[in-house]
Parts: sequence; structure tokens; C-alpha cells
Amino acid sequence: MVLRVEVLGAAGGETPEEAMTSFTLGESLALDAGGLTRSLHLEAQLALDAVLVTHAHLDHVRDLATLADTRAQRRAKPLTVYGLAVTLRALAHHLFNGQLWPDFTRLPSPRKPALRFVEVRPGEVFRSGGLSLSCFPVHHSIDTVGVVARSRGRAVLFSGDTGPTDRLWTVAQDLGRDLRAVFVECSFPRRLARLAEISGHLSPDTLAGELAKLGPAVGRIPIFTYHMKPGFSSEIEAEVHDLLDGVVLARPGLVVRAT
Ligand SMILES: [Zn+2]
Ligand SMILES: [Zn+2]
Repeated sequence: MVLRVEVLGAAGGETPEEAMTSFTLGESLALDAGGLTRSLHLEAQLALDAVLVTHAHLDHVRDLATLADTRAQRRAKPLTVYGLAVTLRALAHHLFNGQLWPDFTRLPSPRKPALRFVEVRPGEVFRSGGLSLSCFPVHHSIDTVGVVARSRGRAVLFSGDTGPTDRLWTVAQDLGRDLRAVFVECSFPRRLARLAEISGHLSPDTLAGELAKLGPAVGRIPIFTYHMKPGFSSEIEAEVHDLLDGVVLARPGLVVRAT
């Protein structure tokens, strides 16, 4: 199938104008769950088979809570949540723990729960939604992965939340001409570069340093920034525009087809 990425949320926080990080990769698979139920109509929420979460931070998992609740009420088939073991443990212990929110890995019934947790290991290739997927570690304040989604020899790369990292770009190099688009985070404007550094994020200058590692693919393929913290998008956009030709801020509604 054609690899189709739709941006539901491209922010690292939420306001009425900015939704938290979430993408759909086709109709049955989502990547991160910061803004899923906020953005998807009920039918689309029920049509999902799986969500791959890059890490446990709330701006990437929050809507698993509301999605699980709604699907439990509708007796939908179990939604597979793919993540690192440490991420799934955090979700089980801190979110779906019967206190902060019900344990939807056992509800509405242990035989047909709303959620099913499936561990993924870095480097392992697995299939969901007609796509081949793999993860690799990046550099954030907790264990976090970047993601490669592939179909028919075409690939899209997502950085996950990360500060400067080499792994992302060796993965990009290895994809060669299969690589059709890159989504890379840029959370803070230049004046908050120090905050970006200590929290494991990028700002325009470190983003420029990262994209230099991508080499000749810059200019050949579309590059989108995401995970802008609320209220900083225009500032980041102006700074990125000055430094990097052709890099565009991702916004909700943006659709990228890997053709
Ligand atoms: Zn985040
Ligand atoms: Zn994070």
C-alpha cells in the first residue's frame, strides 16, 4: 500500500490551535497518541488497529486513555500498543494502573481487552497497517525511539523527541534513495537553546547541525519539523527559514504520500 502520513498533531503541548504529537500512517495505524482522540472522529478512532508510541511522555501517550475508554464502551477489538518494554511498563504502572485510569489491558474483559501491549526492540522489523516498521534509540530525557515506516521500497523517517544524535542519521543514510521524507523535532526557539539541550530536544541551530549529517538528501526530499512547544511556532519557523532552505513546519492536516 502507499505510505500515507497525515499529521494530526505536531506540537509538544496543547492549545486550541496546537495539538500534541500524533500521526496516522494509513487508516489503521497511528504513531504517537498525544492528539488522537482530539483529532479523529469516532469512526476513525474505532478503525485503528494499532498505535506505536515512541516513549512514555504524556504528550505522546495521553489520548491512549480516552481512546481505550471509548473503544471499551464500543466493544472494539483490542488496540495493539507497540512500544519499548520500558515504555509499556511505564504505561502499565503509572497510567493504566486502576487508579489514575482503569487497567484497559484487562477491561472490558481479560479475554477481549481494549488494549494489548506488544514490546518492540530496537532494530527489529515488524508489520502493522500494511507497513514495515522499525525503531532505533535516540537521545532524550527518557528511553525514546525514532521510527522508520516503509512500504514498497519507500520510507519515511520520524526522529522522535531527541537532542543531537548520530543514530537517526546513520539510519537515514542506510535508507539511501528509499527515503522520501523526514519528520524531525524542533521544540524550542533559539533563545531557549539551553532548555532544549537539558531536556533532550532540538532548537534551530542544533537542528541545522543535525541536518548537516543527512548530507545530500537535504534539498532532495521534504523535511518537516514537529514537536514545537506551544506559542513558539512562528519564532521557530522564522529561525528555521533563515538557517535552512526548504525545511517546513508540520501542521495538523498535512498529508505526505511517499511516492
Ligand atoms: Zn514530547
Ligand atoms: Zn519527550
